Amino acid sequence: MSDCIFCKIVSGDIPSACLLKDDDAFAFLDIGPLAEGHALLIPTRHYETLDQMPASEAAGLLRHLPALVRAVQAVTGCTGVNVLQNNGRVAHQVVPHVHFHIIPRTADDAWHFNWPVGDYPDGRMAELATAIVAELEK
Ligand code: 5GP
Ligand code: ZN
Repeated sequence: MSDCIFCKIVSGDIPSACLLKDDDAFAFLDIGPLAEGHALLIPTRHYETLDQMPASEAAGLLRHLPALVRAVQAVTGCTGVNVLQNNGRVAHQVVPHVHFHIIPRTADDAWHFNWPVGDYPDGRMAELATAIVAELEK
């Protein structure tokens, strides 16, 4: 997509600190890191959100994730990693080209989750599971 910043990074029109590149995948350092070594793994072809990706391209992209996490861990010495993937504006997606954040974590870092745990009324969990299974089988 001609006006997409991440497509321009893949094509080299915008420079990046590239970490890996093949037919399906491109990885580079985030310009606004939550921690040193914060990396982004993206598909080389343009998809706005994860649900739009063909399974084969998602597989080609995600096969790099374990090695990338290991490399970021080894180089930064972090003690944990969050892999984060935002879909849609409401989910904090700013750049509309699929990307996985690989974010190094340390015990004393400044990033704190708001993780408001809920619960299900009787029967609701099974009802939802049944509906999702039916959707997967379509
Ligand atoms: P989002 O909020 O969409 O999940 O994250 C987009 C990420 O892309 C942000 O963390 C932001 O710092 C990063 N980003 C945006 N523009 C550029 C750029 O031109 N170069 C690099 N390396 N990262 C970028
Ligand atoms: Zn794009």
